[in-house]
Amino acid sequence: MADAQGKTKTAARPRVGHPACGAVRLVLFDIDGTLVSTGGAGMKAFGEAFEAAFGVGEVTGKMKFAGRTDYSLFREMCRHGGIDCTAETRDSFFSHYLRLVDSHIDVNRGGPFPGVVRMLDELAALPDAPALGLLTGNIREGAKRKLGAYGLWDRFAFGGFSDDDEDRNLIAAAAKVRGGEYLECPLDGPEIVVVGDTPRDVACGRHIGARTLAVATGGATLEALRECEPDWAVPDLTHLSAVQICGP
Ligand SMILES: [Mg+2]
Repeated sequence: MADAQGKTKTAARPRVGHPACGAVRLVLFDIDGTLVSTGGAGMKAFGEAFEAAFGVGEVTGKMKFAGRTDYSLFREMCRHGGIDCTAETRDSFFSHYLRLVDSHIDVNRGGPFPGVVRMLDELAALPDAPALGLLTGNIREGAKRKLGAYGLWDRFAFGGFSDDDEDRNLIAAAAKVRGGEYLECPLDGPEIVVVGDTPRDVACGRHIGARTLAVATGGATLEALRECEPDWAVPDLTHLSAVQICGP
């Protein structure tokens, strides 16, 4: 098909040469509690950044961070702190946040959870290796700081981030579209695996029709995750192989 300039558009690539129907072509990973622990760097930086930006402290005390998106957390903080939630206040807040999150990652002992690096290595080494992406409530630059600190940022080709939307389900939808663009072929839900540590991760995976893998390394117990009925629920990623999650 030619566009208005007469150039040929990149059509959806036929599945010739792609893995057999039913195989996984994209694996999307959550970050906090799934890939890495940052020792609570994000939470600490959130509280301090709000105080630095607006002079209002102790607004994060009763907030729950697990599975949330950065933009939704900021909106809640504004409500607690009596600050208008606007594009301007958000920009101000996140400029402080990025400066502070770096300093907290530096002083905390965090790192990848058991089995994470092996799983990424195994996935990349598969004969029909799936694309690896991120599906996270972090803003993109925050995700880069957190994963970059542990040498993992370059493992992922693209991602869906809080910059895309405040709603995790819609971040998942953005990541699915981006995955299709990256692979030059739209993806069906079951061709995607979403890996995460909270019921919200399972829910957003289900929202895009993906298979879901829940790991109890972060925000929820194994029992709580099992109640969400993901395709897999494991204590950590040492309990599964890449072949197990990418098979038809
Ligand atoms: Mg998480």
